[in-house]
Amino acid sequence: MDNLYDVVVIGGGPAGLTAALYLARARYRVVVVEKDHFGGQITITSEVVNYPGVSHTSGTALTDTMRQQAESFGAEFLLAEVTSLELEGDVKTVHTSRGELKCFGILLATGAHPRQVGFRGESEFRGRGVAYCATCDGEFFTGKDVFVVGGGFAAAEESVFLTKYARQVTILIRGDDFTCAQSAADAARSHEKITVCTNTQVEEVSGDTALRKLRYRNLKTGEVTEFSPENGESFGVFVFAGYEPETALIQDLAQRNEQGYVLTDRNQKTTADGLYAAGDVCVKPLRQVVTAVGDGALAATELERLAAAMQHKTGLHPKAAVPQAVRSDSAPETSGGEGLFSGDMLSQLQTVFGRMASPLVLRLCLDDTDLSRELRQYMEQMAALTDKLTVEDGSPQEADHLPCVRICRPDGQWTGLAFHGVPGGHEFTSFVLGLYNAAGPGQTIDEAARAEIQALRGPVDLKILVSLSCTMCPELVTAAQRIAAEHPQVTAQVYDLNHFPDLRDRYRVMSVPCLVVNDTEVSFGKKNISQLLALIGEQKG
Ligand SMILES: Cc1cc2nc3c(=O)[nH]c(=O)nc-3n(C[C@H](O)[C@H](O)[C@H](O)COP(=O)(O)OP(=O)(O)OC[C@H]3O[C@@H](n4cnc5c(N)ncnc54)[C@H](O)[C@@H]3O)c2cc1C
Repeated sequence: MDNLYDVVVIGGGPAGLTAALYLARARYRVVVVEKDHFGGQITITSEVVNYPGVSHTSGTALTDTMRQQAESFGAEFLLAEVTSLELEGDVKTVHTSRGELKCFGILLATGAHPRQVGFRGESEFRGRGVAYCATCDGEFFTGKDVFVVGGGFAAAEESVFLTKYARQVTILIRGDDFTCAQSAADAARSHEKITVCTNTQVEEVSGDTALRKLRYRNLKTGEVTEFSPENGESFGVFVFAGYEPETALIQDLAQRNEQGYVLTDRNQKTTADGLYAAGDVCVKPLRQVVTAVGDGALAATELERLAAAMQHKTGLHPKAAVPQAVRSDSAPETSGGEGLFSGDMLSQLQTVFGRMASPLVLRLCLDDTDLSRELRQYMEQMAALTDKLTVEDGSPQEADHLPCVRICRPDGQWTGLAFHGVPGGHEFTSFVLGLYNAAGPGQTIDEAARAEIQALRGPVDLKILVSLSCTMCPELVTAAQRIAAEHPQVTAQVYDLNHFPDLRDRYRVMSVPCLVVNDTEVSFGKKNISQLLALIGEQKG
């Protein structure tokens, strides 16, 4: 069985990556399935200073190293969403958006996602002034007033980060004080651009195309404050009100507490046989990287025992990948890489190029700017790695914004996919997946979704406005590209908003990802294929 693993890890955050490292090093076959972005929540923070042994790093750098470490021992990685689990019997089944995996043990390391507070206008103005990620959206509030809702670690830390952009940051805390460590609270409290209001609850936000008014109440005095910036300006409200665990997958399979966190024993075993859990998804007193990696290591050593027993019982032995550390041809993949691409990126590219069913042409529409030169260099270096890609010059008139790379077939026909800017940062992986989807066979999609795509009445023009530092953008980009690759009348064009301020103004963007359907309907937030299809369906009536 090619798809038989000792362990399937669900979630590529610190807990999942650590478990993969331990299991792979012990020579068990392990795959980490991640639906969004390897690295997990910590990738949205640019400063990590409390991980022992590393005095100062970013969330992305820390988890990139974790991933490379796991990969060097032979762990496998799959970008897909786990949709359901079957736990009966010795061999379990993990259903994903890219097919089915079999295994002896499963580790749930799915973490948590931001919680909505529930004040009036919160959902309506999401992406129009109400935000949940300072790294992704902070820059949209440059020179403006910003309110932060919450009193925990993220609220304190991210308020300080937001002072880089905002004129003034006001933290609105429902309780008497911050609930996080004193040091984080002090850093916020003592900052000259930060004001802290305790015993304060947001009641309502309102506005038109952006936020214009905020109303909040002092819970002790009952005093109501209404804030409206002068001269018709807008402002931002960042919500950091805790997290909800991602436990929908196991809701009928294992026990959870009232808040939905998974119950485990001291060895991270859940109440279901063969199912372990690690990291923020578990009931625990401290949710940090250092405890997530501890859980991951502990769960992995227990899962090693389970896998060994199951191999013995069933006679089945999953074929473990050969670790790069002992592979004779490992040097090009694991060393620093060449040119613009790191070792990790090169190995992603080689995997995708190896699977592309047909060649593609990267057609460049450029002008005389440094960004155009950068795009050319990037595409030429990528094409030099494979005979499946060639670069050709198009005319600047072919694109509405320059620079642009249009993904075409060898006969010159446009596949409907294009990127405006240079697809680096978090957009690298989605660009590469776009090539795979355009060349075929592409990422697996279920038959119902395929039928729904084919039934779309075109033309449908999807513009996705992204920022390269946004961790939520790639899911929407990949979904839009997958649909466009499947339907000749659907196009998916991606724009790095940093370079196209006119688009920011035209669609009044204050959050990424921003999706514009047929130049009229604008929406915000990440979406998978089925959510995107539902939205297109609604808008086409
Ligand atoms: C703004 C912010 C700042 C922080 N700063 C710090 C700090 O300085 N120091 C510190 O120690 N901690 C910090 N934390 C906390 C830290 O990020 C978490 O404790 C840690 O990331 C938990 O790791 P995890 O692996 O359990 O889960 P996560 O990091 O949440 O990873 C879970 C992963 O599972 C994936 N997933 C979920 N469902 C599925 C599915 N169905 N299929 C496939 N994949 C799925 C998700 O996409 C995600 O990538 C911070 C958190 C935030 C939000």
